[in-house]
Amino acid sequence: MKSIQAKIQAIQKELNIESFVKLICKCGSDKEVFFRMEFLDTPLCKECYNKLLMELEKKRRIENTNDYLIQAGVYENELEYSFDNFKGDFEELQKLKEYPHQKELYDLIMIGGTGVAKTHLSIAIMRELIKRGCKSHKMHYYTENEIIKILNSSHKENNFEYYYDKFTDYELLIIDDLGRKKPSEATISNITDLIDDRYKKNKKSIINTNLVLESDNGQANILNLYGQPLFSRLWKYDIVFINLPDYRQKKK
Ligand SMILES: [Zn+2]
Repeated sequence: MKSIQAKIQAIQKELNIESFVKLICKCGSDKEVFFRMEFLDTPLCKECYNKLLMELEKKRRIENTNDYLIQAGVYENELEYSFDNFKGDFEELQKLKEYPHQKELYDLIMIGGTGVAKTHLSIAIMRELIKRGCKSHKMHYYTENEIIKILNSSHKENNFEYYYDKFTDYELLIIDDLGRKKPSEATISNITDLIDDRYKKNKKSIINTNLVLESDNGQANILNLYGQPLFSRLWKYDIVFINLPDYRQKKK
């Protein structure tokens, strides 16, 4: 025969009395407090629960930044590039560091000598954007050469429009190494149209080049290689001059 005490305990157990205790969130709120599926050990109010989900999402993004960068076209051997390990210094570096934290992105052209500094800085910008929540499918990194190759081969496969639209639809398109090779007529036309159409769609671009926009000493420049239309478009971009000694030299 069970004692009264044992009977009471059995009834308590059956009714799961402990769950009747008023739930209070760690923030002190007792409104809409529940045990949420993923966090069964802590009662949480709706607000704290949403906050926690956002923090976890941010953590996940930071942990997976490199995966997102690869999806956005960055090569594996360039994944290390960040502002933290950028060694050079020049007047407008701060401006580039602030770029990913602007309310709205803007068109930017980085002009500077040889070396990998511009690539490094572009990827550093992408890395910060990803950390801030920018989705990797909304931005992409390409060299000019890659874009031209893709467009050329898409002509043969009859899907030029598809790729062209893809290039014009990214919220942010990084075009690295513009003018590394002397552009053909087709390249000039494709790149000018692409940059023009992106502008019309209000999509932002970051363009890297060793070429100055124009010069009167006869050296190769955007105006004399690509012509007036592209020159006029790029003239309206924010221009950052990167005057560093060759970055590859400097890294040694
Ligand atoms: Zn709470």
